[in-house]
Formats: sequence, C-alpha cells, structure tokens
Amino acid sequence: MPGICDGFQRGIDYLRISVTDRCNLRCIYCMPSHGVPLVSHQDILSYEEILLVVRAAVEIGMNKIRITGGEPLVRAGIVDLVRMIALVDGIQDISMTTNGILLDKYAGRLAEAGLHRINVSMDTMKPDRFRRITRTGDLSDVLRGLQSAREAGLDPVKINVVPMQGINDDEIKDFARMTLEKGWHVRFIELMPFDAAIGLIPADRLHHEIERLGTLEPHYGLAGNGAAKYYRLPGAGGTVGFIEAISEPFCNRCNRLRLSADGTLLPCLFSTDGIDVRAPLHGGATVHAIKQLLLDAIAAKPEMHRLSNNCAAHTRMSGIGG
Ligand code: SAM
Ligand code: SF4
Repeated sequence: MPGICDGFQRGIDYLRISVTDRCNLRCIYCMPSHGVPLVSHQDILSYEEILLVVRAAVEIGMNKIRITGGEPLVRAGIVDLVRMIALVDGIQDISMTTNGILLDKYAGRLAEAGLHRINVSMDTMKPDRFRRITRTGDLSDVLRGLQSAREAGLDPVKINVVPMQGINDDEIKDFARMTLEKGWHVRFIELMPFDAAIGLIPADRLHHEIERLGTLEPHYGLAGNGAAKYYRLPGAGGTVGFIEAISEPFCNRCNRLRLSADGTLLPCLFSTDGIDVRAPLHGGATVHAIKQLLLDAIAAKPEMHRLSNNCAAHTRMSGIGG
C-alpha cells in the first residue's frame, strides 16, 4: 500500500517507538540526577502490543521503524522485538538509537535479528567528561559498542553529539576530524533547552568551526529519515550532519509519528497531548481499531511545532525517545 499523507501533504512513513522510559545513564540535558518518575511496568506496552501497532502502521503505508527509549537496550528481550518487527511484511527499514553502553553485548544479535542501522549517542571523546555529562557512564563501553556495531554489519553507524556551550564545544572539530580519519558519520543535534543552565551552540558556529578543516559540501544518499542535513569534508569517508529542531525546524519534511513507552501516539515531538493506544490495546483492540488511531494521530499533526527556545517542561526526551 502506498504511504499516507497528512493534512499538509507530507508523506508519513516513519514510526519512532520508545520501548522504555528507563535508562542506565543520566545525561545532564535529558534527566535530573535522581532520574524521572517512571511509568509502572503494567503501563508499558508489551512487545505483542507494540507489534500490533507496527502491523497497523504497515497497513496504512508506514514502512520505517526506529526503536528508542529511554535506553532501548535495557529492556529485556529487545532482540526478540527487533526480530518480530523484521518479520512484518512491508517493513523496509529498522533502526535504533542507543547510548551504546550495552551495545558490545547486543550488536551481533541485533544485526542477526534484522536491525539495519544504528545511531549511538556520544557527546565527548574524553572519558572524564563522558562521566560528567552522563553522570554514570564509562566511555570505553560505548567505544567497544561502536566497534561491535560496525563488525556486525550495521550500516550506517551514526554518532549523535549534542554540542553544549562550555561543556564539549571544544571537541566539535575533533568529531568532524573523525569523519576524515575514521570515516565516522557524526550528527550534531541542537540542544533542546529543558535546562536553561545549559546553552546550545548555533549551527552557524558549528559550520564555521568545522570549515577550518575544509569546505563542507552537501551530501545526499546516507540512509536516514530526513531530520538531518548532511555534508562531507573534502576526502572524508564519513559525513557531518546537523539537526536543528529549533533554530531551523525540519517540520516541512516531517514524516513521522512517535509512540511513547506508555502507549501514547504523539503527532509531534512537542505535542502536549497525544492519542492513547494503551487502553484500547489492553482492552483487546484489533489491528483495524489501531489503524484508525494512527490515522487520527496523522490528522492531528500540526504544520509546525510552536517551540522557540523554551521547551515545555512537561515532557523530556527520555520519555519520547528524541
Ligand atoms: N538513550 C538513547 C540515547 O541516548 O541515544 C535513546 C534515547 S535519547 C532520548 C535519543 C536522543 O535524544 C539522543 O541522541 C540524545 O542525545 C537526544 N537528546 C536527549 N535530550 C536532548 C535534549 N535536551 N536536546 C537535544 N537532544 C537530546
Ligand atoms: Fe538516557 Fe539517552 Fe536520556 Fe542519556 S539521552 S539520559 S542515555 S535516554
């Protein structure tokens, strides 16, 4: 079945699924040090329920799935979920966003189960700084995870970096250099200011810094879902991407719905309310009924998000998966 358009003629073919609100890190821009109030286990969608939503999504023409969190690799049985999704006829692309801490253990099994590609968040290449940003993490775990992901054939492996003033902004050029030296695909994600104490770095400053290494040429063709703009430094095997959700929103290219771990369909990253699929699923809803709720969420997609530089505090990225 062909894809489906929303009210603004955008094709919606991509579902981002947060499988848990739990995480083994406490990144300073995402969670307070004591964590966030957690959804109770019985309110988290089961894998069978998630699969039913995926089947309904495919029936209305969606074909790309991203698994995210919280940290998706802390949920037991995650490889089985990937395998179940990969077996759904019509799914063309399965990806995951992870902090990489457990990736060394899972990369091979994820690839074998049908995961195509992976994004790994790593905001610094300095071990001490990594510990300060994540509050608990060990950088060497992530580096081993990256290596295992490549060896497992996940392709592309992208590295997500959130540049922050005075925290990791001295490493922007170092990350860009890795696209030359190691063929890394590095994406700089504009900070969404949930915490006013941490300052974002405007994309023009990132460009300016990186262009000390050479002219950034636009690059097309890296597998992805449209939020990032990609460039390449002369001679680089890897790419530099920019995601500017706030200063230059990609709303006109928006192709996605989000499903939170507790079963809320979100028409927009910044939606203040969503459409509940958990109660219908708990009540035994059919694929047909869930299809209608997906269509309702698509119909509710706004033309643009209304956010400028002050994010609503009601929602954090750990609950909706970025
Ligand atoms: N735990 C996984 C991880 O960190 O990759 C997946 C979930 S995390 C919420 C998804 C992405 O959102 C990560 O790349 C993270 O850096 C990003 N993120 C979290 N909070 C953010 C914020 N306030 N602004 C920009 N990006 C953020
Ligand atoms: Fe956890 Fe990812 Fe949020 Fe960091 S960004 S606290 S790894 S959910």
